[in-house]
Amino acid sequence: MANIHNNYIDGKWIPSSGGDTYEQRSPADLAEVTGVWQKSTTDDARQAVEAARRAFESWSGLSVYQRAEYLNAALELMIERADAIAKVITAENGKTIPESRSEIASAVREMEFQIYQGVRTGGEVMPSSMSGVLAYTIRRPLGAVAVIAPWNFPFNVPARKITPALISGNTCVLKPAQLTPGAGEQFVRLFEDAGVPAGVINLITGSGSVIGAELVTNPAIRAITFTGSTEVGRSINAKAATGMKRTQLEMGGKNPLVVLTDADLPAAAAATALAAFACAGQWCTSTSRAIVQRPVLDEFIDLLLGHVRKIVVGKGDDKASTMGPVCGQTQLDGILAAIEKGKAQGATLLVGGGRITEGDLAKGCFVEPTVFTDVTADMSVAQDEIFGPVLSVMTVDDFDEAVDLANAVEFGLASSVYTADLEKAMEFVGRTDVGLTHVNMPTAYKEPQLSFGGVKASGHGIPEAGPTGIEFFTEHKTVYIRTGV
Ligand code: NAD
Repeated sequence: MANIHNNYIDGKWIPSSGGDTYEQRSPADLAEVTGVWQKSTTDDARQAVEAARRAFESWSGLSVYQRAEYLNAALELMIERADAIAKVITAENGKTIPESRSEIASAVREMEFQIYQGVRTGGEVMPSSMSGVLAYTIRRPLGAVAVIAPWNFPFNVPARKITPALISGNTCVLKPAQLTPGAGEQFVRLFEDAGVPAGVINLITGSGSVIGAELVTNPAIRAITFTGSTEVGRSINAKAATGMKRTQLEMGGKNPLVVLTDADLPAAAAATALAAFACAGQWCTSTSRAIVQRPVLDEFIDLLLGHVRKIVVGKGDDKASTMGPVCGQTQLDGILAAIEKGKAQGATLLVGGGRITEGDLAKGCFVEPTVFTDVTADMSVAQDEIFGPVLSVMTVDDFDEAVDLANAVEFGLASSVYTADLEKAMEFVGRTDVGLTHVNMPTAYKEPQLSFGGVKASGHGIPEAGPTGIEFFTEHKTVYIRTGV
């Protein structure tokens, strides 16, 4: 019998008031239950929000250096526990152990940067137009905030959202994705064990469609930070608007990598293979479209297939594996349906295209690395976020056509161009409609001290991490003081 895990509300691990639980199953073997989790109710969500609201006064009353001490203690524990946390991420999400370790390493960097940002954020002193008046601004925390996380980066996303929220004096309720509650629990335990006071961080597990509405509409919640699908993001934004709550939404992508005739083709092919198939194509910044100029198409495809053939699909905790399963049955069904649709619409399947149904892997959600070519802009494989190991290769005659095609989707998260022509590269940077672009680098490259967020249907609100993290989680106050008469 797998362990039963509770919610964390007001410093206590407690079961849901409704008494119901659900099983989380390993995507590498659907027969294996990794844990039993609380199916939380609206009432649980209300209790968690109430605990965060109550804790706000004393937490925000600490100096930022006192809060930094707690957060640095949690960060130290994160580094110490990296191996154990990686095992939990791999068990629930399926990604390989090196991929889980890299997610934790990235969470460490996010936390370090946001703690540093928090202690150095102040206001501005401005000269007043009146003599004898001191005029300045300060920033102050909002209150209780809701943090709604996805399953693809189940540990890093809470780290990047919760650190700027807490360092600037807010309290929070974390709702991890239903598929990855253990990563959320691991994150919250760092704060419990670092001695962070009760109510400052709370965790409730379960279905977003059941508890999400309470988290988004409860009057005590002042801001919502969400990473997930565009569909859910839109519905959260509509509900939050009624309560005039601040929202920040990071959503889907359909990221293009453009290859021009003068590109370093081996580098372009390696970057495409990396960002299309790492974490089984389940990065929001995964490359899902390669847009290639006709004269170099054949050579690019040969190089790309060389990389694809080397991918070893297997269980995430098997040292030989370089690509794990996709995260669960729903994800598997959606990816296979998208592949079938691509075939039916006339795309040519170059490699892959199916579930792995032999041996031990038949028990899990393993999909072959898949490459389509002859993909045109009207096909669903060129438009929809498949969020799996599926790459669409599209062919263009010139640079303008490449840029237009790259922009011809509803999403605008990440892009890249491979070229030796600086002028073309800079023109691409100017014309690509995304929040994050690259030249001669993979679509997924990012660093914590720079803004990260999409435009169009990929993002809404100022980024909750990076240099604007503290700004998102604080409001301003302007002060005028007559110092003399
Ligand atoms: P999802 O939208 O299904 O779920 C995200 C979170 O929202 C989960 O915690 C879920 O329980 C919750 N949720 C679901 N319904 C809700 C509701 N009605 N109200 C409130 N919360 C609700 O997304 P997912 O499948 O977990 O994650 C994959 C998606 O996330 C992909 O589209 C991917 O592109 C996107 N993503 C984007 C970024 C980015 O930075 N842009 C990063 C990672 C993932």
